[in-house]
Amino acid sequence: LGDQLVRAGLLKGLRYTDCSDYEGNCILHTMSTIRDGVRCSASTAYLKPVSTKRPNLHIITDAEVSRVIIENGRAKGVEYTYEGKTSQISATREVVVAAGAVGSPKILMLSGVGPKNHLESLGIKVLSDLPVGDNLQDHTRVTMFYEVSKDTATNVGTFADRYAQEQYLGTQTGPYSYSGIEALAWVRVGERNRRSSLSQKLFGTFQNVEPPNVQYHIASVVGVQQYIAAISTTGTRPKSIGTIRLNSSNPRGDPLIDVNYYGDKRDWQVTLEGLKFSHELFQTKPLKTVGAKLVKSLHPRCSKVSDFTDYLNCIIKYYTLTMYHPVGTVKMGSKSQGGVVNRKLKVHGVNGLRVIDASIAPTLISMNTNAMAIMIGEKGADIIKADNGINTEIKMPICNRRRRFSLG
Ligand SMILES: Cc1cc2nc3c(=O)[nH]c(=O)nc-3n(C[C@H](O)[C@H](O)[C@H](O)COP(=O)(O)OP(=O)(O)OC[C@H]3O[C@@H](n4cnc5c(N)ncnc54)[C@H](O)[C@@H]3O)c2cc1C
Repeated sequence: LGDQLVRAGLLKGLRYTDCSDYEGNCILHTMSTIRDGVRCSASTAYLKPVSTKRPNLHIITDAEVSRVIIENGRAKGVEYTYEGKTSQISATREVVVAAGAVGSPKILMLSGVGPKNHLESLGIKVLSDLPVGDNLQDHTRVTMFYEVSKDTATNVGTFADRYAQEQYLGTQTGPYSYSGIEALAWVRVGERNRRSSLSQKLFGTFQNVEPPNVQYHIASVVGVQQYIAAISTTGTRPKSIGTIRLNSSNPRGDPLIDVNYYGDKRDWQVTLEGLKFSHELFQTKPLKTVGAKLVKSLHPRCSKVSDFTDYLNCIIKYYTLTMYHPVGTVKMGSKSQGGVVNRKLKVHGVNGLRVIDASIAPTLISMNTNAMAIMIGEKGADIIKADNGINTEIKMPICNRRRRFSLG
């Protein structure tokens, strides 16, 4: 499937590159954090190698932090619950919060760092009035499905296949060893793309080229009894901004997440244009050769809508999902710009407190956020070491990337 999509992309004018430049309009076989056929998480790459070797590293799993203890404007430690018991740990130097774009704003607000009116409405004493939980940004996805010929897509049968299981157990290769996403593409869709292409043709320059506004994930659908290819459309830089707020002052309560998807109507338009382009990809010869045919029945609420644009608007309305890429809720920036942490990732107005995770990103990046979160962790560690007079040369853990596909 990935190969057919790459061929289709080339026919539609996309480049087959690693897509790491600004220009976009490219397609590639998916890169993943997989080492020797096994997912290589941040924990595997960074924590496991040192967890038993460092006497000053103590990890408590399944503990839930309820708040940072802040006294006289300084973070003194954290309060946490473990096996039903609430305890405190004090910090000799500083506290680093890294609970993600949902967890970090929750902990800060429970600690008295957040929007004054909101905290006061819950009876939480305000220690630093900051726009914590504002600026929530997330990628959405809307997926279209196409039936393709047997063996083009990986289907549930393949995963039940004994050979596939033995292949994986023996050599860590085959269907079990890949991320599930066969190809990725970044494209500039809509009016501005046409203008950029014109300037490129006239002046031979990419100076005026806008970055890609749509990302595609192309995968097989596992778990249905057909051979189905799925292409998900994601607006890369959504303009809609949501919020995270506390539901109550009880740390056990889940926060209120208002994603506000399509709050800015331009995001809907980009998704619509993106879906149209994804359909064009499936009308090309490489996909037609493998029998690609739109399957509306996997969108039961829209399957009877006959006009194509109406159908696309219907699936945007009823089948938009998250890409799980929340960022921005503890935004880095000056106080006057609505920042919560400064460029050293220190919380404004509180000493000895940093936040180092995806929540500090002021805006979404145009791709999946895991590599960005790892980069923020690397940079944050670097900043802390520099602040403590330690050499900041970084030795990156390497997750080898073995190419498993070629265009043949
Ligand atoms: C289902 C899913 C699929 C994804 N797939 C991809 C993908 O394919 N590619 C990609 O690039 N990105 C993907 N992402 C996004 C990526 O995982 C995130 O961007 C990245 O993990 C963010 O890192 P983080 O350190 O900011 O937060 P997290 O990785 O969320 O880490 C925060 C940690 O803090 C813990 N925590 C939270 N609150 C507390 C508390 N009160 N006390 C103690 N611990 C707490 C959480 O349990 C978690 O372990 C996916 C995300 C999800 C949810």
